[in-house]
Amino acid sequence: MTENECFNCKNKSTDAALIRCEVNDEEKWVCVRCLPMLIHG
Ligand SMILES: [Zn+2]
Repeated sequence: MTENECFNCKNKSTDAALIRCEVNDEEKWVCVRCLPMLIHG
């Protein structure tokens, strides 16, 4: 099993909840702490 990490801050799912998203047909994981930043640009 691969360990996913936030593409922005490298948090793992043990540090913060990770959410899968797709950017330019690429699967990425982002943690909930970076999500607001991602939404607001
Ligand atoms: Zn993050």
